[in-house]
Amino acid sequence: MPVLWLAGFFTVLVCLSITSITLWQLRETRSHELEIADTTVANLSRSMAQQADDTFDQADIPVAGIVERLSYDGFGAATSSRMHDYLRAIAAGVEQIQGLFIYDKDGNWAATSLSHTPPNANNADREYFQFHKAIDSNLPHIGQAIRSRTTNDWIIPISRRVNDSEGHFAGVVLATIELAYFDRFFDRFDIGKRGVITLTMADGTVLARRPTMENVRGASIADGELFRKYLKERYEGTATVESILDHEIRLYGYKRLDRYPLVVLAGLSEHEVLDEWRQYAWRSLAIIVCVVVANLLFGVLLFQQIRYGLNAESQLRIASHSLEKLALQDSLTGLANRRHFHEILGLEFSNGQPNLHPLSLIMIDIDFFKSYNDNYGHVAGDKCIVAVAECIRGNLNRTGDLAVRYGGEEMAVFLPYSEAPGAFLLAEKIRQAVLTRAIEHQGNPSGIVSISLGVYGCQAQECPTMETFVERADAVMYVAKHEGRNRTEIWQGTTTI
Ligand code: GH3
Ligand code: MG
Ligand code: MG
Repeated sequence: MPVLWLAGFFTVLVCLSITSITLWQLRETRSHELEIADTTVANLSRSMAQQADDTFDQADIPVAGIVERLSYDGFGAATSSRMHDYLRAIAAGVEQIQGLFIYDKDGNWAATSLSHTPPNANNADREYFQFHKAIDSNLPHIGQAIRSRTTNDWIIPISRRVNDSEGHFAGVVLATIELAYFDRFFDRFDIGKRGVITLTMADGTVLARRPTMENVRGASIADGELFRKYLKERYEGTATVESILDHEIRLYGYKRLDRYPLVVLAGLSEHEVLDEWRQYAWRSLAIIVCVVVANLLFGVLLFQQIRYGLNAESQLRIASHSLEKLALQDSLTGLANRRHFHEILGLEFSNGQPNLHPLSLIMIDIDFFKSYNDNYGHVAGDKCIVAVAECIRGNLNRTGDLAVRYGGEEMAVFLPYSEAPGAFLLAEKIRQAVLTRAIEHQGNPSGIVSISLGVYGCQAQECPTMETFVERADAVMYVAKHEGRNRTEIWQGTTTI
């Protein structure tokens, strides 16, 4: 039933629409949250990189100054007390500088900002010393993070080569940057509980990390996706990757410094970034489930209600059809009842308009029926009436012909479009049919049930009123009774009513 399908379809459509709109909205808000986090980490990594740049610049500027001075004044100036004071003043004034050192061409300590010089101190074995000795470059060199021999703190060396007036290697000036300085700086930022800020060498060696981990300093994260993939392609950007240190999935902003071989990573935990969104999503989903369930329940109710309504309607139609039948049909014989008969006649004789076709009526009455009832009882009498009705019905073959139980054991056949002779022939056929049945009837001289029939027919325009039409057929039936029954009489102009 289309209306049922429509109700079902509509309910499902509403559920699907609500669900898909919510899911779409959740997806949108999720990507929005991630976009904001992406911008945050990109900005964070940029500012960290700037900070790292400044930190190394601030350490390199005095180193470059000392190199300049030694180049002009000669390396002998390194051991002067003025130089010692100068180094001390610089180291005290620049927070990140842990110490300043000048080594001669053999690696021996020529000057330091520290308050005392260890006896026979020599740094010729250090990587930066070897580097400057081997390579004649006036650029600063940043070495691997190492533990200071004097303080045992983690430091990064930034150093420059000193040449003598002839351009030969004369020594090295070194500033050591305290890595704890970065830890303190990183602590100032809000990166959530699971975020990280990391400073690494360009080769992936970790220099500083917040939060700090055991043995993380000096560890390599070169095998992580950031170094393997992203930093190879671009020096700056954002990416969502899993940390190889703690396996947290984070949105990272990364940047390789322009002038130093250093990389800064700032990462926010994706889980934390989406925390609020997740709560919102659960709330939305709970509401959606409620709405969908309510809608489905409502749909089921509606479905049942419609089905119930449709059933009731079809039952009502059946009932009304039966009632209609009951109102027009005789319950014993199934022939039309007197009401129906008068309705049909009423249509034919409407408003006294002349008829356009002939009309005939056969009136039928069972002979000696009173005595049949007396002899065989009323139930048998009813069966006899039914048998006669069957004989009538069995002989009708035109659609418009109407067999009627007129009252008691009297029946009639209304034949529109039939003229009297035709009606007479049909009447005879019916009479013969009843005789053929040979229903025993002791009260009838012939010993079987017989019927008397009166036929009246009129030409279209000549038809009398409805009442006269019926009366004439009735009258001629009584003529048949008088003439001895078991016969058919046809209306003659002389018949009296
Ligand atoms: P006649 O040959 O002159 O018609 O004699 P009759 O005895 O048939 O007389 P009438 O036609 O007046 O008889 C009507 C009788 O039919 C009265 C009643 O006992 C019987 N009758 C009328 N309606 C019914 C009915 O529905 N069932 C039964 N069993 N008998 C009926
Ligand atoms: Mg009668
Ligand atoms: Mg009778």
